[in-house]
Amino acid sequence: MITKFIKRILRRDPMVRPTHANNSGAPKRIPKKTHRIDPHLLSKNAVKVTHTLQQAGYEAFIVGGAVRDLVLGIGPKDFDVATNATPEQVQKLFRKARLIGRRFQIVHVTFFGKGHPEIIEVSTFRALLENAGDHLAESGRILHDNVWGSQGEDAARRDLSINAMYYDPSTETVLDYHGGMADIQKKTLRMIGDAAKRYREDPIRMLRAIRFAAKTGFTLDEATRAPIAKLGKLIHDVPQARLFDEILKLLMSGYSWAAIQGLRDAGLHHGLLPLLDHILDEKATSKEANEFVHLALDSTDKRIQSGKSVSAGFLFATLLWPELLKNWKKNIAGGMANIPALHEAMDETIAKQSNGMTIQRRFESDMREIWAMQPRFEKRVGRYPYRLIESPRFRAGYDFLLLRCAAGEQNSSLGDWWTSFIDSDAAGQDELMASAKNESGNASSAPKKRRRRKAKINTPAESAPESAN
Ligand code: ATP
Ligand code: MG
Repeated sequence: MITKFIKRILRRDPMVRPTHANNSGAPKRIPKKTHRIDPHLLSKNAVKVTHTLQQAGYEAFIVGGAVRDLVLGIGPKDFDVATNATPEQVQKLFRKARLIGRRFQIVHVTFFGKGHPEIIEVSTFRALLENAGDHLAESGRILHDNVWGSQGEDAARRDLSINAMYYDPSTETVLDYHGGMADIQKKTLRMIGDAAKRYREDPIRMLRAIRFAAKTGFTLDEATRAPIAKLGKLIHDVPQARLFDEILKLLMSGYSWAAIQGLRDAGLHHGLLPLLDHILDEKATSKEANEFVHLALDSTDKRIQSGKSVSAGFLFATLLWPELLKNWKKNIAGGMANIPALHEAMDETIAKQSNGMTIQRRFESDMREIWAMQPRFEKRVGRYPYRLIESPRFRAGYDFLLLRCAAGEQNSSLGDWWTSFIDSDAAGQDELMASAKNESGNASSAPKKRRRRKAKINTPAESAPESAN
């Protein structure tokens, strides 16, 4: 106990002198009156983790994106902790602690409380591998970096200055090694070190820079922005799964539309997702398709900003819809019946996607369900609508239909009809069915090619895409 106390006092004695930030030496120590972090935004569990580590005589800080968000007055969505304790030492201190990763181990400390369990990710200070020839791919990409280091080294291997700050909840001090606080004040995003070299080490950093620009509304510093145009192609060296995760983060950031514009401005969208090529190339895309994707991303952003959940499958279904419509129409023109043409178009659209960033299987089935449901909304006879409304993915399919209506790609009276149908009691629904029957020509376009089969419940009704581009 006494030893712990002495260690703690010693540790508190600042090894780091108050000095201005520079890239090699001591950090700037930023007091509460300057950083103004609201303690209410802190995760109690993250604070517990730093306290426990500190009580045991280690250094421990909240780090990275959480500090950035706290300084910006935003509640971080997750908390990372950095420490000089090794993963094994960390693990010993917590009951629910798991070592994750093979080459570079981190520890997940889990807390169970009300609601979802919270995982605090604890990493040991790591060094940047200078002169690490054997760790670099030919392009300069880091293949692995598993060397423990000092806090200063840990700060230097991070990406942006605003992501390289450390917060000690017990002293309420921010340690700032690379001028992150000044950059926040200047609303600037700056890559630590030589930006071109940092992008070569890890091309994902280009996508991250653009994502944070969209999220914060900050401007990329010129030296950080300029190399992206030339180095953007290095993104293709990044393993698919990692690229997928990053694109997903970008789309789920709550600022996806702004981020997509950022990708376009930086020339980074080509080859990430064929769908991004498609929608970002304004000339190659119809007005409706642009409008549809814009609306979809806007509504996703709004949902995320208001704390609602968003399904990635739904999002990818919207982004690939213009491509799907194009293929669907082409297949019909080539003589296929409507529904087989749709299913063929789904295969083609997804197969084309695999040339760029592979959409993981779990999202693929959601996308297919949402798409396959679309023609079924047009079949407003017999028991069809009553059955459709019971299907487990109905809500997603219906939301998707409403987007199509809002974009002018589907007749809005069809969306309105379904909205009323959902809200009505049995008698009201019967009335709506009667009105649909009387509607001349219906809300759907006339099927272009009919091949009557005995209708099966799960077979989408026969109708052609309203408008394809
Ligand atoms: P958010 O979680 O809000 O998306 P974040 O900055 O916390 O943003 P994480 O992926 O959680 O992003 O990473 C945590 C921290 O790790 C970052 O703040 C940054 O310091 C560092 N980091 C993450 N990815 C990289 C990278 N590719 N290169 C260098 N440092 C990185
Ligand atoms: Mg984070």
